[in-house]
Amino acid sequence: MENILFLAHTESDGSLSKAALEALGAAVELCSGQKNATLTVGLIGEQIDAALTAAGGCGAARCLAVCGEDFGVSRYASDAAAAEALLGACKASLVLAPASSRFCRALPGLAQRVSGRIDTQVSALDSSSGELRVQRWFYRQRMVATLSQSQRPWILLLSSGAFSPWQGGSPALKAEQISVELPDTCKRTKVEGFQAPPADAQTIRPDAKILFVAGAGWTKKQAAPENDAKKAETLIRGFISSAKASLGSSKSLVDLSAQGQEVLSFMSHLNQVGQTGSTPRHPKGLSTCCHGEEPHVVGWRFISERRAINLDAGCGWAHGKADVLYVADAFEVMEKLNELLAKG
Ligand SMILES: Cc1cc2nc3c(=O)[nH]c(=O)nc-3n(C[C@H](O)[C@H](O)[C@H](O)COP(=O)(O)OP(=O)(O)OC[C@H]3O[C@@H](n4cnc5c(N)ncnc54)[C@H](O)[C@@H]3O)c2cc1C
Repeated sequence: MENILFLAHTESDGSLSKAALEALGAAVELCSGQKNATLTVGLIGEQIDAALTAAGGCGAARCLAVCGEDFGVSRYASDAAAAEALLGACKASLVLAPASSRFCRALPGLAQRVSGRIDTQVSALDSSSGELRVQRWFYRQRMVATLSQSQRPWILLLSSGAFSPWQGGSPALKAEQISVELPDTCKRTKVEGFQAPPADAQTIRPDAKILFVAGAGWTKKQAAPENDAKKAETLIRGFISSAKASLGSSKSLVDLSAQGQEVLSFMSHLNQVGQTGSTPRHPKGLSTCCHGEEPHVVGWRFISERRAINLDAGCGWAHGKADVLYVADAFEVMEKLNELLAKG
């Protein structure tokens, strides 16, 4: 019988992030699939009211919270102390939490303090055989491992985008406050503020329905002389903003930008998709002017529907890597597509 603790830190407005709601959805499902399992919700944050409403109806036997100004910011010492107090109060055997940067930093320390074990970036849970098994990917999402663990407590940090979010219900939860006295030595780290790019410069959008990938072809000499890098930039920016797409890139294109060539000003290595880049999760993907070589396409593992536009009918996408390949000039296609999107 597992005693499950869903653990989350709230956002600055007291709400739960999408990743936290996904972890709660996974905890509820795991609990309902196990005989005699119990669920406790544990919250850490300056405010928690919106989280109590969002987690409503989840069937938790208890809701415990460590609240207050000291727990509003991401700081290893205060987060680890709060998580330890919550775990101690409910004696959970399993902890399910979102793999946020805040928890990826603090919860390995929790595992050490309670002589438990931790697995991060978990992408699937299965208890159908009676024993809990979890999955996670290794080596840039090329190999998947199925793991089980006899040591308890077992802390699982769940990858975002891999579980269905808890949709909410009623009644809202009521929290029991757990008090944690922080010595000054646990408050030495001060968070002075956040630095984020302006909203229109933010091109990586993990929650977008579509991933738009630009390849080095956008910068190559084109048959029509007016189709240059400046025009490519306008077309790509136009599509990204009207389709609210996330922007990915091939390695060749971001390497060009890094070599000081004025190519696409808004592109950086953070946009790179592939073996040495990222492996984003989106329902759809559109690749443009990108050849579709294996080290790039391996980053498309979690894109459900794949389409590509390439002048070359023999490009990598044509070899079973895309659902649809448009053999066409991406400058022309994107110009037309942007026109249609502008008309609504
Ligand atoms: C160890 C290793 C790791 C790597 N990791 C990665 C990685 O993480 N991510 C990654 O992307 N790559 C990675 N690579 C590099 C990868 O193998 C390719 O070199 C790279 O993906 C090629 O980028 P590209 O397709 O944009 O450019 P190119 O190969 O230059 O292809 C450009 C494409 O644009 C098309 N094109 C040109 N003009 C137009 C037009 N007007 N309309 C339509 N199509 C047009 C051309 O037909 C061509 O297919 C890695 C390589 C190695 C060896």
